[in-house]
Amino acid sequence: MTDTTIGVLALQGAVEPHLEILRSLGAHTLEVRTPDQLAQVDALVLPGGESTTMSRLLAINALADPLAERLGAGMAVLGTCAGMILLATEVLDGRPDQRSFGAIDIGVRRNAFGRQVDSFEADLDIDGIEGDPVHAVFIRAPFVERVGPGVEVLASVAGHPVCCREGAVLVTAFHPELADDARIHESFLSMVDTAGPTGG
Ligand code: GLN
Repeated sequence: MTDTTIGVLALQGAVEPHLEILRSLGAHTLEVRTPDQLAQVDALVLPGGESTTMSRLLAINALADPLAERLGAGMAVLGTCAGMILLATEVLDGRPDQRSFGAIDIGVRRNAFGRQVDSFEADLDIDGIEGDPVHAVFIRAPFVERVGPGVEVLASVAGHPVCCREGAVLVTAFHPELADDARIHESFLSMVDTAGPTGG
């Protein structure tokens, strides 16, 4: 990973825990708030937070179009919770003006687990992750309602996909940065190695 820089979109949301885990795995990281910073990264994490706010801040910071361009060029990306919503093809129960980038062919419903179970934790078996189940923290989490033909479902909760991958795009409905477990980030970094830098 020595020559590779992993960005974390740092406009809003749970940024620091992602940076800490990535650094603990030896990755070189950069907080991304400007188009210039986006151009310097080889791969990007879109954190959890609030997808409608992030969508608005991406536009205000002139990042939305450059981000769409990098995603279109195949940049490796990890989207967690709100980040997953931003990367989806369709957003259900979204705000009409919120942008999603269509980097992974899924339809996602916001706040899908409903009010009764606003937040919960679950131990998940995730395809491709060896050993113990992954302890997953869900906070006002979305789930996936439609999966395109090229998308692998890696884990589900009550039959609803909550972790998916298509090419160099990995998404989780939960917050992998909030449990003391680096395996999701580790598998993302190995995807980045495979995808190779996309010429930031
Ligand atoms: N419900 C939030 C949204 O729609 C996502 C919650 C989260 O990222 N923890 O963006």
